[in-house]
Amino acid sequence: MADIVNRVRRMRRQNRRWYEWGHRVMTLVGREDGGAYGGVPRPRDMWFRHENGRIRTTYNYDDVRAKNDGEWKIFDSQSDGFEVVIGYWPHPNDNGSISRSGLDGRAEQRLFLRWFVWDGLVKAEWLGLRRWLYYKALTSVVEQKVPFTCQATPTSGYSHWHCSLRRKHVGEHRFHNYTWANSGRVKFKPVRNA
Ligand SMILES: [Zn+2]
Repeated sequence: MADIVNRVRRMRRQNRRWYEWGHRVMTLVGREDGGAYGGVPRPRDMWFRHENGRIRTTYNYDDVRAKNDGEWKIFDSQSDGFEVVIGYWPHPNDNGSISRSGLDGRAEQRLFLRWFVWDGLVKAEWLGLRRWLYYKALTSVVEQKVPFTCQATPTSGYSHWHCSLRRKHVGEHRFHNYTWANSGRVKFKPVRNA
């Protein structure tokens, strides 16, 4: 609950125009990374180890650091959730990268299923809805379309640029410091400071 309150507070502080909804949505559904909310929603990394015939799990790196004897394994969600790396977490004396391994035994297989489906797909990604919202918002932020403007796009690349001059304006199109004619190349022409 405190998490939602923080997100709404931050959203209000951003003081965006109504059509800049992408920033708001990203603040609401983005993954929390060190106090910011801009991350792609994906499962949290989970460490686990075998102890007294059972599997002990944690999401807290402090637990790992407190007893790092090279026996911790990890389910590590990387590349914005497009890759999952499974392996042994490096011992402090090792070279610092995960040494990849398989899922050893039925207990680890069940644990992976629970982490991937329940912690990941259901809780962290809302069965895909959260990532869908996030990427919709990200696209909107990147494209920066301003309503009731020309919105023309340069023919030479930069398909996410949209002219922000009024509709049916005369002369070149403009996106921030760049201009272009209807069938011309993009030129750098800074907006003069008023
Ligand atoms: Zn234009």
